[in-house]
Amino acid sequence: MRAAVLVEPRKILIKEIQPPEPGPGEVCIRVILAGICGSDYSLYNGKFDVSLPVIPGHEAIGRIEKLGPGVSGFTVGQRITIQPNFSCHECSLCRSGHENICPAKIRLGVDTDGVFAEYTKVPARYVWPIPKGLEDDVAVFAEPLAAAAHALKIMAPRKGDRTLIFGAGVMGLLTLQLAVLEGAEVTACDLNQTRLALATRLGAAHVIDADDQTASADNTFDLIYETCGADSALAQAIQFAAPGGKIVVLGLAGKEHPVSTVLIVRKELQIMGSMIYTNEFPHVLNLLQSGQLQTEPLISRRLPLDELDRALHQFGSPERVKMLVTI
Ligand SMILES: [Zn+2]
Ligand SMILES: [Zn+2]
Repeated sequence: MRAAVLVEPRKILIKEIQPPEPGPGEVCIRVILAGICGSDYSLYNGKFDVSLPVIPGHEAIGRIEKLGPGVSGFTVGQRITIQPNFSCHECSLCRSGHENICPAKIRLGVDTDGVFAEYTKVPARYVWPIPKGLEDDVAVFAEPLAAAAHALKIMAPRKGDRTLIFGAGVMGLLTLQLAVLEGAEVTACDLNQTRLALATRLGAAHVIDADDQTASADNTFDLIYETCGADSALAQAIQFAAPGGKIVVLGLAGKEHPVSTVLIVRKELQIMGSMIYTNEFPHVLNLLQSGQLQTEPLISRRLPLDELDRALHQFGSPERVKMLVTI
């Protein structure tokens, strides 16, 4: 099979390799379409402490190619998507419903070969059938949308909450749409005008240019979702939070940054982390099928597997939102 292999940081080669053979409880999947995620970019740049070579990629649509021993409930050819973090199901966190923070979790496309290849293998329990009529281009958003839905499960806006979405990339624009569906009045904050225009189109009532020093939004927001992962984002969110405000952090910052503990105490803020997802996949697939969310405007480019290396080289472009790879 053809596979995009990360052989060293910032170097992906298209190689011809043996397709994976599904073991007990696993299925082999013929990948059709894959999404490029911010974490793929971090891995590409050598920011993850993992051994190379590895086939990156974890957001995918595909068809069941082969069932491993003991797998039932799927048919060959069935269209599916993958929940790409595999937990141990034995530790106390897994047993109490917190499998997203299982310390033994295996990340597809990071710890094990991922989806930027013609075939991949995954545990059958992490495979979700795609509802009839839901197109590949839409269903491929299930993984980032599940992470956004998890953030709203951590803390959902109440009607009329002044809600701020920090960062108008894929995660921000999906979280924004979920918050709007909950009836929140949403403001989006980003450095990039194209992304802010997109936020307005997707339901933001107001936008803040993060570069514009005159836009003072201090002490304004009841609920803030930090989705961008910029090092200073939490510090700024703490400034922007209203007294009694809540901050949900989904963005993974590259490095530590000091925050004002004084403001956290004086405003009695609640700050909560939100890590990927637990049981959100069936819900978000139904939500995507319902047509209540817009995903087409989030697609900035489609490319073949051969161009993956070049696409990741250019990933830093501020205009980019979601790039899809046809395999
Ligand atoms: Zn992702
Ligand atoms: Zn576990």
